[in-house]
Amino acid sequence: MEVARKDAAVAAPGLFHHWRDPDPHAIGASAVEFLHRLRGPTCIHLTGNDSSRLRVVATLLHGNEPGGLFALYELLRLGLRPAVDMLCFIPSVDAAKQEPGFVYRMLPHCKDLNRCFTTPWGDTEVDRVAGEMMELIDAARPECVVDVHNTSGSSPSFGISTVMAPQHAALISLFTQRMIVTDLRLGSLMERTRDDMPIITIECGGAEDRESTLLAGEGLTRYFTFENVLEASQSEMSLEYFHHPMRLELAPGSEIAYGEHSLLADGVTLLPSVENYNFGHVGADTLLGFVSGALAGNLRIRNGNGELPVAEYFQLVEGRLYPKRKLKLFMVTTNPEIARKDCMFYLTEA
Ligand SMILES: [Zn+2]
Repeated sequence: MEVARKDAAVAAPGLFHHWRDPDPHAIGASAVEFLHRLRGPTCIHLTGNDSSRLRVVATLLHGNEPGGLFALYELLRLGLRPAVDMLCFIPSVDAAKQEPGFVYRMLPHCKDLNRCFTTPWGDTEVDRVAGEMMELIDAARPECVVDVHNTSGSSPSFGISTVMAPQHAALISLFTQRMIVTDLRLGSLMERTRDDMPIITIECGGAEDRESTLLAGEGLTRYFTFENVLEASQSEMSLEYFHHPMRLELAPGSEIAYGEHSLLADGVTLLPSVENYNFGHVGADTLLGFVSGALAGNLRIRNGNGELPVAEYFQLVEGRLYPKRKLKLFMVTTNPEIARKDCMFYLTEA
């Protein structure tokens, strides 16, 4: 069935398939069926009540984070007419389709799409997807962009912004009560934020958590239907802020495992229960795991300005890893692949 064809309105032959105002009966009986009707990176155009304005939602930048796609599918199934025109980007369709489904963040041996939104644009296919997506967004002149993700572990929801501004806070408050303001630059979509086009990231919680699916659904419904999403009343804005987090990363050449005791002769073993500290406090008596070898040889900490001494924040006591001071952790993963390629968790001083 020809459901996702190229849109004639887009000049250059692109990587994105365009689908305009999909018939609710043509999108499949489930979100998984919907995914399998998409042929690759997809942009869905929806006509709103006020076509003089447009908003963008992006989801499935990471193939293993289906929360936003599930929520979008439900809205499409309802045939809900948005307040303004909408562009809905679903780029990592191929990664998401890899069996058993929603397991791969990106295709094997490919770059992480949400690390490719930097200029000059790179020259891999993933870079071209990022470049074309940004071109389509710029051409549509949206009033704002929301990028919906799941956390890689079980976690409460939060929003992330690279700037502390009322419009960004208003967008985040449509979804969640926690706002992280980061000066870390990784090449993510939200870093393309501008005064006339605020962009934020929503982490709606773990892909397995039922609350995160509900949160994505409720937040996206507000984003689709509210007349104004860039001004929030004080009562809606009871946000808790976290400023300028640091990242705990594996040092080059080190290895990571998860277990109840040290599993590596040379490397880092974190307790699987570190996940429970998401948005909680840890202190000098909280055992986080084990390190065989030197602390600085296995772990490194980065903030927006560069690397920081690990020993200021963590300590080893006979090979056991503890915080050195009171810290708040979030985006804790227990997926070794993500810990290896991205980071183990984010932290701020409590
Ligand atoms: Zn993600």
